[in-house]
Amino acid sequence: MLSGDQQNFYNNNDKNPHQTGINEAKNLHHETAYILPKQLCTIENRKVIEQELQHPATRIPDQFQPYYLDYQNKHQREFLKCVNFIGQITFLSYFFVDWLLIPEIGMLSGISRLILVVCAILINWLAFRYCKNIKILDSLLPVYVAAAAALWLGLLILSHSALVTTYIYAAVIFILLGNLCVQVSFRNSIFTSALISAVIFHGVFQLVSLEEIVLFSLIYAPILFLSMYISWNNTLNSKRNFLRVLLNDWNYYALSELAHTDELTQLNNRRQFLQVAEQTIQKWPKYNLACLLMLDIDFFKRINDTYGHDVGDEVLRILAEIARKEMRHTDVLARFGGEEFIALLPNTTLEDAIAIANRLCRTIETHQICIKDKLFLNFSVSIGVSQLQPNQKDLSLLIKNADIALYQAKKNGRNQVAIYNYG
Ligand code: GH3
Ligand code: MG
Ligand code: MG
Repeated sequence: MLSGDQQNFYNNNDKNPHQTGINEAKNLHHETAYILPKQLCTIENRKVIEQELQHPATRIPDQFQPYYLDYQNKHQREFLKCVNFIGQITFLSYFFVDWLLIPEIGMLSGISRLILVVCAILINWLAFRYCKNIKILDSLLPVYVAAAAALWLGLLILSHSALVTTYIYAAVIFILLGNLCVQVSFRNSIFTSALISAVIFHGVFQLVSLEEIVLFSLIYAPILFLSMYISWNNTLNSKRNFLRVLLNDWNYYALSELAHTDELTQLNNRRQFLQVAEQTIQKWPKYNLACLLMLDIDFFKRINDTYGHDVGDEVLRILAEIARKEMRHTDVLARFGGEEFIALLPNTTLEDAIAIANRLCRTIETHQICIKDKLFLNFSVSIGVSQLQPNQKDLSLLIKNADIALYQAKKNGRNQVAIYNYG
């Protein structure tokens, strides 16, 4: 279960400037892995996804539509390309059946089938190369099927073979092929089923008697509905798979926030700090320096002992809030442990870092915490400052030096800033 604060975090994610360092690091890590953009990772959206997953006729909510099409574009494109190609080869191979059943126009069949397939291959080549709209790619094959059915029925009309009345039952192959390959949008399947059926019945009406048309319809209709049902189920599964991927992303975001955030202060935790600070330092240009501040609350044990653990916790939250406000967007701030906080200040000179540390000390020292509406409490911090040296990018040394400086600040009387002496 997520705490109230954490739920709120998912709702107000973008408003938290100090988290930028984390977000950048995570995005670097999973740039291609997420389908769900972080701003859509809200509790409300999660509920919507879960409801749709349970709905018997799952639909993709409007806010996810572009991501759905993008996802299908990535995952169905290859399948659609292959099935289109196989469909065309299948259509071409039926030339041999024409040759056997309607031999007097075998030649015409071969040439016209070849022309249609070459045209389809050319259109496919262009479409799969330049078209990003997966719905169009999804409807290509059913449209070819309608054209192929028209051509085949035209051949049957031209033929005088007695076998034509038997051969027309092969028309069910068209509707099967047209529907079974639709993967993205069931609406496509409805339109193309209507188109293919119209073409087929138009041809059949010219070929056979009314009684035979009735018989043909009785054979054709169940196949039409079965194939439409399978198409509906395929598109439903596509939608559900996509929504499950969104849920996975949501869970991943939530888990990584839990793993990287300190629950009490909502700052980065130690693990996250080490990871982000290390990445920041490593990608830092040689000529640029960074500084590190290590903060420790003075006599914190005394605050706990005098006012109770709850007040101690409140002091930690307030310190986090003050530090967050004082830091820049690019600084990496974290609760390092107990009552110790740490901040990496990239692109900062030692003078600036000292000024920031002194300003923090003064702000904290003058901040009064109101307890139980009457008692006012002041607290202070000591801060150690270290600086990244031009030729070394060692985070642990930087932390160690800031810790030594912090110890010095404590020794010098607390509520002050000390700088690591680089000699
Ligand atoms: P110094 O000025 O030398 O830093 O003295 P100090 O009392 O601040 O340091 P010390 O290390 O003796 O005590 C730190 C205390 O912080 C002890 C521990 O109980 C308390 N502490 C650590 N984590 C938490 C927390 O999450 N909440 C609260 N309320 N107290 C905590
Ligand atoms: Mg301490
Ligand atoms: Mg302390």
